[in-house]
Amino acid sequence: MKPDCILNLVRDNIRSLEPYSTARDEYQGTPGILLDANENPFGNGLNRYPSAALRRCLLEKIASFKGFPPEETFLGNGSDECIDLCYRVFCRPGVDNALMIAPSYGMYRVLADINGVESRSIPLGTGFSLPVEEILARCDRHSRLLFLCSPNNPTGNTLSFSGILRLLEEFPGMVVVDEAYADFSTQPGLASLVPRYPNLIVLQTLSKAFGMAGLRIGIARADRSVVTLFDRVRYPYNIGTDTLKLALETLDPERSAWEIAVIRAERDRLATALSETRCILAVFPSDAYFLLVRTQDPKALYRHLLTRGIIVRDRSSAPGCEGTLRLSVGTPEENDRLIRTITEYDNV
Ligand SMILES: *Cc1c(COP(=O)(O)O)cnc(C)c1O
Repeated sequence: MKPDCILNLVRDNIRSLEPYSTARDEYQGTPGILLDANENPFGNGLNRYPSAALRRCLLEKIASFKGFPPEETFLGNGSDECIDLCYRVFCRPGVDNALMIAPSYGMYRVLADINGVESRSIPLGTGFSLPVEEILARCDRHSRLLFLCSPNNPTGNTLSFSGILRLLEEFPGMVVVDEAYADFSTQPGLASLVPRYPNLIVLQTLSKAFGMAGLRIGIARADRSVVTLFDRVRYPYNIGTDTLKLALETLDPERSAWEIAVIRAERDRLATALSETRCILAVFPSDAYFLLVRTQDPKALYRHLLTRGIIVRDRSSAPGCEGTLRLSVGTPEENDRLIRTITEYDNV
């Protein structure tokens, strides 16, 4: 798909949108007395609207350590905003449809429902594999979005690279690959494919590997035409001043690299320990920082853990996930306690 073909996928009202222009976009000179933006004049550190320069500073810091060109990088209020923008930019309510694998991250469907867009769930194949043929069989000329999550939540596996390439070649709309957990995988992500595939949108986030879920910063790498569209459609001040400042201060790729290494080692230690317990019948291979485990009686194990103050996610009602719980990897001490508590359940 060529970059100019992307525009054909965009809703007419978005393509012709005259975006809101903020006071600070219009006045670019040296700051003097600011009476242009209806701000309270008394300084308390928060009385001004977020500065575009500060936003730019964070965008450049993130783009530089990720190795993304800044003009192919978008910052959203969490990845959730990026997912919502995909619908708002590409899908006409009541007309277009979006495809998604199942089970996967629940927000793809919720945001389709909110935006009045039909969602089509395609069950993963055996071993949670990418169902390429089934996806291609279920799409039509109104299919504008395909959501893939790799490593997938809640199954933990990385989706087949060649399968995604084939979908990038043949799917008629935008292919969104959510890489919220890619930092925990040994396999490379897909962001470097954006120049070759302008119909690819890669989502990443500061919420997981970078430990800033409370801040709400999501990242999209996409063709610059897509980034421009997202920037026109987002709220003018989608990320607040304190969030921008805190993200700039907190973002420390070296510290995160250390944490990621510890979490990966803990994940593998936890997987081994859990596979040796009697009640856990299977620990699915994970490239993420959680483990999906299958057990005889997920509700009973869930309750046992809960009464001992350990909260996990019951995924047993998700398609293909019968009998499963999803466990995030904790600190080494938390994982020790989890292992002890499950061993104790084995012995009752
Ligand atoms: C946690 C998660 C996100 C994170 O979303 P944010 O809005 O950036 O916090 C995105 N996608 C998946 C699959 C997730 O599991």
